[in-house]
Amino acid sequence: MEWDLLNLSNEFKPGIAPVTESNNSFHIIISKEGILKITGEQPWRPINEIEWHWLNIETYSDHYLGQINDISIYAHDVESIPDNQEIYELKSLRQLLNELDQPVFYLLGRAQQIVEWNRNHRFCGQCGLETITTNKDRSRKCLPCKQMFYPRLSPSIIVLVHRGEDILLAQNVNSRGVFYSTLAGFVEPGETIEETVHREVKEEVGIHIKNLKYFASQPWPFPNSLMLGFHAEYKSGDLILQPEEIADAQWFHYTNLPNKPNQAAISGWLIADFIKRISRTH
Ligand SMILES: [Zn+2]
Repeated sequence: MEWDLLNLSNEFKPGIAPVTESNNSFHIIISKEGILKITGEQPWRPINEIEWHWLNIETYSDHYLGQINDISIYAHDVESIPDNQEIYELKSLRQLLNELDQPVFYLLGRAQQIVEWNRNHRFCGQCGLETITTNKDRSRKCLPCKQMFYPRLSPSIIVLVHRGEDILLAQNVNSRGVFYSTLAGFVEPGETIEETVHREVKEEVGIHIKNLKYFASQPWPFPNSLMLGFHAEYKSGDLILQPEEIADAQWFHYTNLPNKPNQAAISGWLIADFIKRISRTH
C-alpha cells in the first residue's frame, strides 16, 4: 500500500499494541539528530516494511503508534543512522513542518514525543533505578517506588485579542524581524486556562481583556505543548510591553496585517477565522 493513498485523518486508529495481525507496516525512524527522510522524496513519508528490513539498524526502543486500515505504524528510537546521504537524510520536525499535511504532522509529533518521553524516563527521578515498560498502557514504571511515568503534555494558551476591526499582534524577542503573531504562554500549576489567558495578556502587553471565547486546540510538539486557542476582546489599558518576551506589539487593521504565521499553526487559523467573521459584517 502506498503511503500517499492512505487517508490518515479518517482511518488512523491509535493504540498501544496491534489489534490485528498485519504483514504490512510503516516505520518512523527517530534519532537524537532528527527524523529519517528518504533523500529527494517530497513530501516526507515513513519507510515501509521492506525499506525497514533493508535499513537493518539496531533500535533503542520500538513503539507501536496505531493502525491505518490494517497497516501498523511504528516509531523507532535509534542511536544513530549509518551515513548514506544519497538514500536518506535526517530532518528536524520543524524543518519538515511546511511539507507535511496536518494529520502527518500530528502523527510525527506523536512519534517524536513518545520516543523522547521513553528516552527521558529510563530512570526513576525519585530513586534513580531503571524503570520498566508496562504493557497495559503507555507508561513506564519504577517497581520499588510504585511510581508511574506517562508521556506528559504542557498545556498552553494562544489568544487573538481584537479591538473593533483591529487585531493585536506581537513580535516575540526570539523571532524579531520574522513575523508578528498572536500572544501565547504556558499554563502555570494551580491556574485555570481562562486565568492563564488573562495573565499572559496582562504580563506581555499590559492590557485587560474580556469576552474570552474558546476556538480550537492544536498539538504542538516543540517540545510537548497542547495549544488551546481563544478569541478575546480588548477591555482597557495601554500597550506596555514585557521587554524579555515581546520585541514589538501593535494593533493592526484586519485589511493591513504584517507578515503573519501560515496555516500550519493555530495562530494562523485564529487570524483567518477573525478575518472571515469580520469580513462578513461588511
Ligand atoms: Zn524509583
